[in-house]
Amino acid sequence: MNVIGKLPFVIATRLSQQIRNMSLVRSLAFVNNQWVPASSGETFEVTNPANGQVLGQVPDMDVDDTEQAVNVAFEAFKTWEHTTAKERSVLLRKWYNLLEDNKDEIARIMTAESGKPLSEAAGEVAYANGFIDWFSEEARRIPGEIVASPTQTKEMMMIRRPIGVAALITPWNFPAAMITRKAGAALAAGCTCVIKPAEDTPLTALAMADLAAKAGIPKGVINVVTCSRKKAAEVGRVLCTSPQVAGLSFTGSTNVGKLLYEQCASTVKRVSLELGGNAPYIVFESADLEAAVKGTIACKFRNCGQTCVSANRLFIQESIFDQFVAKLEEAVKGLKVGDGAAAGVTQGPLINDAQATKVKQLVEDAVKKGAKVHLGDVDHSMRVFNEEIFGPVAVCIPFKNEEEVLAIANSTRSGLAGYFYSNNLSQIWRVAKRLEVGMVGINEGLLSAPEAAFGGIKESGIGREGSHYGIEEYSYIKYLCFGHD
Ligand code: NAP
Repeated sequence: MNVIGKLPFVIATRLSQQIRNMSLVRSLAFVNNQWVPASSGETFEVTNPANGQVLGQVPDMDVDDTEQAVNVAFEAFKTWEHTTAKERSVLLRKWYNLLEDNKDEIARIMTAESGKPLSEAAGEVAYANGFIDWFSEEARRIPGEIVASPTQTKEMMMIRRPIGVAALITPWNFPAAMITRKAGAALAAGCTCVIKPAEDTPLTALAMADLAAKAGIPKGVINVVTCSRKKAAEVGRVLCTSPQVAGLSFTGSTNVGKLLYEQCASTVKRVSLELGGNAPYIVFESADLEAAVKGTIACKFRNCGQTCVSANRLFIQESIFDQFVAKLEEAVKGLKVGDGAAAGVTQGPLINDAQATKVKQLVEDAVKKGAKVHLGDVDHSMRVFNEEIFGPVAVCIPFKNEEEVLAIANSTRSGLAGYFYSNNLSQIWRVAKRLEVGMVGINEGLLSAPEAAFGGIKESGIGREGSHYGIEEYSYIKYLCFGHD
C-alpha cells in the first residue's frame, strides 16, 4: 500500500512537538520506495533518552513484512545489478548531495532519538555522509584482473560481481554512519539491501531512506524494516536464513553477532561482522601527556563512551600514573552533562535504562573489589576490566614495562581498536605490530574515516568496512576462462 499521501496526517497526529516541524521525520517503514505500516498494524514508540518523551511511533514489523521486503530487494537486484558503475556512482553522488543539504535536520533527529549532543550528531552526520561520498567514487573503481595463462589455448580473467541482496543490521550508537558505511558499499557494488535499524534509532534511518528515494535510487534498492526489540530476533532470523539474501552485514554486540553468524551458516551467506571492542589505551612514559589526555577525552568520552572503539582500559606507565590521572581528572571536570540538544553539553544521556544500569553495576563491581572512584586500583577480576563498558567510565591501570602491558592488553578475546602514546620510534613499531587488534591509533585517539579500513580481529568481527576493501564484502570474484585455437 502506498500511503505517502497520508503521511502529513500521520505526522501531524503522532509526532511530538520536538520533531513535528522536521520534514524528514517519518512514521512508516520504507519498502519498495513506499511508506508502509506493519501488516499487523502494530507500532512501537521512539523516545528521547534525555527526557523519556515519546517522539513518535513507527511500524513494528514481523516475519511476513521482512519476507516481503527481502522479496522486493531480490526483484530489484535483477535490474540494479546490471546498472553501470557510472550510473550507480551518479545516484550515490545525488544521495550524498541531499544528505549534505539536510545534514542539520538529520543531526537534530539523531539527537532527539539517541541523546547524542548536537555537535556530536553533526559530526556523525558528516562522517556518515562521507561514506556515500567515498563509495560514489569507489563504485567506478571495482577492477578485475587478467592473469598470464599457463596454456596457449586459454585466456583467464577474474571479474567482480555483486553478491545479491544484502541484509544490514545496525546499532543505535551511530544511527547514520553504521547504515551508510554498509549501504554505500553495497549499492556501489551493485547490491540491493534491506536495513534493520536499532529499535532506539529508526527515525534517522528512515530520514536517510527518504533522501535516497528523492535522489532517484530506484525502488526496492534500499528498504528499511523497523521493529521493536521483542521482534528483532524473528526479523533477524528471516534475514539470516532467507535463501534470497546473499550476505549479512551486522554491527552490534558480540553475543548477537555470534548468534547471527550461526544462523547464516544454514544458507552459507557472506558474513561481515563488526562487533564489540575492549580497546586498550596505553600511555608510555615518553608520551606527550597533554596529547594523551586530550586523546583520552575524545576516545573515552565521545558519545558518552558508547562507541565500539572507545578506550576501555587505560594503561598508564607507573612513573607518570599520578600525573596522568590528575590531568585527566581536570579534563573530565570540563565536560558538561545534560540534554544533548542544549548548548555546550558534551555528555548526553546513556541510550536507555538497561545501558545505564549496566554501567552503574560495572562501577559498583569495581568499587566492591577495591577500585576508588576517580582514582584507585583496578585488577583483572573486575568486570570493568573484562567487559566492554560502553559508558563514560575511565578505568586507569598502572603498568611497569612494555612486555607486561602488551601481555595484559592482548589478554582478551576482543581485538577491535587499540591506542598508544609514545615518542620512542622503535617502541612505536614494536607495539603497533604486537597489539592484537584490527586498528591502531598511535598518538591519536580518533581513527575512523571513510578512506580507512575499519574492522576487528578475534571475537570483534570479520570483514572490513570503508576504504576500497569495503566493496569486497558485497562482491565476489568470478573467474572467466576463454578457450580458443
Ligand atoms: P545489539 O544488541 O547487538 O544490537 C545491534 C542490532 O542488532 C540492533 O539493530 C538490534 O535490534 C539487533 N538485534 C538484537 N538482537 C538481535 C537478534 N537476536 N537477531 C537479529 N538482530 C538483533 O548491540 P547494541 O547493544 O545495540 O550495540 C552496542 C554494541 O555494538 C557494542 O558491543 C558495540 O561495541 C557494538 N558496535 C560495534 C561497532 C563496530 O564497528 N565493531 C560499531 C558500533 C557498535 P534492537 O535494537 O531492536 O535490539
